[in-house]
Amino acid sequence: MQTAITASPQVVRDYSRLFVNRGAHTLQSSWPHPDSERHYYFRPRVKGTGKELSLTAATIRRHLEGEITIGLYAINPSTQRSKWVAIDADYDGAMEDLLKLQYFLHKDKVEAALEMSKRGGHLWIFMERPALARECRIYIYTLALTLGVRIRGIGLAQGIEIFPKQDELREGEFGSAMRGPLGIHRGANRRYWFYGADYDLEKQIAYLNRLRKLSEEQLQGFISGKTMPPEFDRKRPSPDQAAPFVHASGREFRILDHIGKVRMVGRNYVTQCPSCAEAGQDRAGDNLAISIEDPRKYICWAGCTKEMIRRAVGCPIPVRQPA
Ligand SMILES: [Zn+2]
Repeated sequence: MQTAITASPQVVRDYSRLFVNRGAHTLQSSWPHPDSERHYYFRPRVKGTGKELSLTAATIRRHLEGEITIGLYAINPSTQRSKWVAIDADYDGAMEDLLKLQYFLHKDKVEAALEMSKRGGHLWIFMERPALARECRIYIYTLALTLGVRIRGIGLAQGIEIFPKQDELREGEFGSAMRGPLGIHRGANRRYWFYGADYDLEKQIAYLNRLRKLSEEQLQGFISGKTMPPEFDRKRPSPDQAAPFVHASGREFRILDHIGKVRMVGRNYVTQCPSCAEAGQDRAGDNLAISIEDPRKYICWAGCTKEMIRRAVGCPIPVRQPA
């Protein structure tokens, strides 16, 4: 039995100030997917209108009290800034890498909070004011490379993942969400705490409030003269993306032409999401669902947009008609 936990209005306000940077969020499904037994995240919508729900204090309270579990996006698209950086590690030796990062961050006078997770941990750094996602990323990527901490991605299935995962969001993109800390993980059915304080909501929040926050000035000092390591610079087109895809005239895009083996699950084909795969995710190969009845309809359960999926298969949605 989980002990009943109450989140006071002050705790909810502090949590929101620390972690919430935009109204869009995800919700972890209470019931596992019948095929994969995973608890997927989805963007909640208003029943009937289909309008996306914005995060409210009541939703945060329910998350903290363990009734639901939310996922939080790092980047606010109107500013391209993030309130935090989270480093996710879940492989053998993950804790060692996170502690190493925490130690060297501390040498930079950056206090990072270590949160437990199902298989490893998450290391959180909070900004004094939201900072450009691009600058946050340059700092952590270059620090990790200097320390020899592996970064998941290009040819490496194991390594840390750094949120925000994008330098900036294009229109309609959400980026990647992190499970909101201090809630209950539906899959593990337990709450993961930060190591730095007693396992009590008030004390955990007080600990996070006390942490020294990273200022923009400090951040810019750390990255002065540095750029994103080229192998992780997603804006740089890879050789096969360099030549823009030109649609054969009148030919409709068919997702089934661009993906590998599919399985049939209920009314859908299910396979690995190409956009998730590009980011080293969806190793279970079941994030992308394509309607069998109408294969023009497809969705990534992890939240990749159509634009991201189309880009990942090398057929970006054309912005204007090719000449
Ligand atoms: Zn995806």
